[in-house]
Amino acid sequence: MHPVLPFCAALLLGAGAVGVPDAAELKRLQTQYAPVDLTVDLARFPESERKALARMVQAGRLMDGIFLRQSWAASPSLLLQLAGDETALGRARLRFFLVNRGPWDRLEHNRPFLPGVPAKPGAANFYPAGVTREELSAWQASLPAEERARAAGFYTVIRRGPEGKLLAVPYSQEYQGALAEAAALLREAAAFTTQPTLKAFLAERADAFLSNDYYASDVAWMELDASIEPTIGPYEVYEDDWFNAKAAFESFVTVRDEAASAQLARFGAELQSLENALPLEERFKNPKLGALAPIRVVNSLFSSGDGNHGVQTAAYNLPNDERVIQEKGSKRVMLKNVQEAKYQKTLLPIARVVLVPADQQRVGFDAFFAEILMHELMHGLGPHSLHVAGRSSTVREQLQDSYSPLEEAKADISGLWALQQLVDRGVVERSMQRTMYATFLASAFRTVRFGLADAHGKGIALQINWLLDAGALRVGTDGRFSVVTDRVQEAVRSLTAEILAIQAAGDAARARALLARMGVVRPEVQRIVDRLKGVPVDIAPRFPTAERLAAEFP
Ligand code: ZN
Repeated sequence: MHPVLPFCAALLLGAGAVGVPDAAELKRLQTQYAPVDLTVDLARFPESERKALARMVQAGRLMDGIFLRQSWAASPSLLLQLAGDETALGRARLRFFLVNRGPWDRLEHNRPFLPGVPAKPGAANFYPAGVTREELSAWQASLPAEERARAAGFYTVIRRGPEGKLLAVPYSQEYQGALAEAAALLREAAAFTTQPTLKAFLAERADAFLSNDYYASDVAWMELDASIEPTIGPYEVYEDDWFNAKAAFESFVTVRDEAASAQLARFGAELQSLENALPLEERFKNPKLGALAPIRVVNSLFSSGDGNHGVQTAAYNLPNDERVIQEKGSKRVMLKNVQEAKYQKTLLPIARVVLVPADQQRVGFDAFFAEILMHELMHGLGPHSLHVAGRSSTVREQLQDSYSPLEEAKADISGLWALQQLVDRGVVERSMQRTMYATFLASAFRTVRFGLADAHGKGIALQINWLLDAGALRVGTDGRFSVVTDRVQEAVRSLTAEILAIQAAGDAARARALLARMGVVRPEVQRIVDRLKGVPVDIAPRFPTAERLAAEFP
């Protein structure tokens, strides 16, 4: 076990270390992330709102520093050290450190890429050096209920007091300096904006930074209805690999995409009639769909901290606080310009490798984004609650470990089925008929490339294999794939029907058998995935709009 606490960063970076990447190798690793400018058109925004945005970006920058401290105690000093290294190797290390927000390669199972750096600590810097999980659990169990809730909660770190006793320290104290500064900036932003719900969120979040009580600001975030949609504060818990309990700081400063929001509303209005038309026995259909969980489509002009490392976040569901979810539900935010950047820098190059030339011409961003929206919406359709052997249950409960891959596959393939319905009804432009299937196929290979470890990967493998077996995809002698236009609609319908039938029956054995047979990477798929090695895996965003705002309103 490596000590997690401060030691001299200079010792870490001693020359002549073996087994860590040199400048050339770091350069290669860096090319996995295609640099891209994330810009947002602010021409229609009045000065009050642009000033508010500038302050939100400044507050967002402070989240970077906090996140760095949270992920590893030695990271801030390591960053300083790297920033002062003018050699080619030093430059390459600094760039890759910034992409990963730390000294571990997030695409390579967190392999350290700097000399002397230990394995990524699962406890991050949320728990004291040298503590064990058992000691933490035993200590928490010994606390009175209220203290225990605080110790196990999102917004405290655990430290050792003077006598070595464990204690919970609120974020408002641990990160006091940065949070006080961020709160002041959010208050300035609140004073600038003329939009009431935005003003309310910014003021509430500023209070939360100081009081450590995030509830009211999470509620205000759910009630946001403004042209600017900021997400800033402690949110996701993945950096705490031990307990998934402690929230890491991040920011997304975004503005609403009006055209996409209108498109989403058009799709939303069709959901009940899509449910009614599903290829599923009538008795399993939901005659009255519940209210739609809110979805916001936005464009990002700045992100930081936990929201900006390794593979870029393209959508998120928040908040995570169950109390807020109970009362107000949660909201899905989709970052359209991030999706578009990924489309340009990874999906198009993948299409050029994977698809025959004719199908390469049929790949389009409008179809790509419409399919992502439909995926989200279709999660709400189809069977969810069941009656099994006289008692009520859910598809999730019945299908167990097969639930997630099958549900993800359902959202994809029924989304494609639904898009065809909308084309037929004239809700979606006719031109999408030409692009939707080839785009879907290229996007499927992008997912397979990330492997089958997660539910999306397995679900996509199932879909590719089903379409192959149905003769809806063809593999040419050169290994490239093409869509068989007159077969694909029926194959999409039949897989949609198969998955919905399994879900309606809650048939775990049939689900497991289907995934065992089809949720695999076949040789013809692997061969083409192997050719994708030179294609960037993701993007490394730059934020020129945020920089312009900073220059305009320092
Ligand atoms: Zn999904």
